Amino acid sequence: MRSKELSLMARDLNTLGWNDFFADCFAAANIDGAIPARIVVQRKTNYLVTTVQGDYRAAIAGKLRFVTNNQADFPAVGDWVVLRPVRGERTGTIVAVLPRRSTFSRRTAGREEEEQVIAANIDVVFLVSALDSTFNLRRLERYLVLGIQSGARPVIVLNKADLCSSLEEILKDVRRIAGAVPVHSTNAKKDQGTGELLRHLGPGITGTLLGPSGVGKSTIINCLVGHEMLKTQEVRDYDGKGRHTTSHRELVVLPTGGLLIDTPGMRELQIWEGNEGFEETFDDIEQLSAQCRFRDCHHEQEPGCAVQRALQGGTLDADRVKHYMKLQRELEYRARQYDTRTQAKQTNIEKKSTSTHRRGPRRH
Ligand code: GDP
Ligand code: ZN
Repeated sequence: MRSKELSLMARDLNTLGWNDFFADCFAAANIDGAIPARIVVQRKTNYLVTTVQGDYRAAIAGKLRFVTNNQADFPAVGDWVVLRPVRGERTGTIVAVLPRRSTFSRRTAGREEEEQVIAANIDVVFLVSALDSTFNLRRLERYLVLGIQSGARPVIVLNKADLCSSLEEILKDVRRIAGAVPVHSTNAKKDQGTGELLRHLGPGITGTLLGPSGVGKSTIINCLVGHEMLKTQEVRDYDGKGRHTTSHRELVVLPTGGLLIDTPGMRELQIWEGNEGFEETFDDIEQLSAQCRFRDCHHEQEPGCAVQRALQGGTLDADRVKHYMKLQRELEYRARQYDTRTQAKQTNIEKKSTSTHRRGPRRH
């Protein structure tokens, strides 16, 4: 495809999450008769992709399969690929996968441990917790680290706010670990507060939800997508035995212009919980910290430090305190990295805003 044609369709492509980064990569690939496409559903070896000309069934080109030697290089939902359509058909061949802006992956246990990408090119990850008896600040910290590592912008969502009698207190605790990461509270069952989440999903921005099962992810998605819309997102398909099946698109365009990725893989993606005994055993230190004179006490030399007092009094184990502080530092470090990266991205966005505007009116 020529660059002129490409820039003509850029505006439509933008609604699917396309941007200058992918445009440059696509141009560099320079493949005749090919068009940009985004993976909507992944089934073992066959894919549903969407393009400005609609959906296509796609398979990976033999040549691509040949040069691909690890799982992580295969396309995943959210990936931008170079598609060569079959003339006159709604099918095509995936000849290349464009570089990714962000990835969520898991390790699969096989002969060797291997990375498998679950979803790619996610801009915003909503880290969902429920404010019921299962709420756990340490677990939220873990999700925060995972979210920041992915390369996406994390947003903390505290759902089931209706079940919480000490919302202000919990919000204070969460904001302390969140740093610059936005925090929202919602009651998805009543569709309260969920509209605020859409502010992070402007046109062409791709989001996903991450969190333990049962916290309300599906309920939130229903609020964002709208029930009517979900019905129209079904994909008619045939399984291996020729039976007709329907499945859901795993990447949907929201009525407000953002995009959402919801795959079974993302749902199963859980943080490594409890392997360091982190959750169950640091509560006492947390409680002591709350009694320190200074809220931002590092429990080192500060006067009025309840942790130091307990250490000296012999009621607290020095090794555990050390371990706790190490994890806290790691988290702070990641939060700072995240802040720097966000600022850098922001500057880039501002720099590019003139060219973005030229592409056409943005819906807000
Ligand atoms: P998922 O596993 O994370 O997708 O969670 P679901 O969306 O399936 O929700 C699990 C349960 O929590 C369902 O029974 C929902 O009705 C309920 N639920 C979801 N959001 C809220 C909320 O804000 N408040 C209350 N009280 N219940 C909720
Ligand atoms: Zn202290």
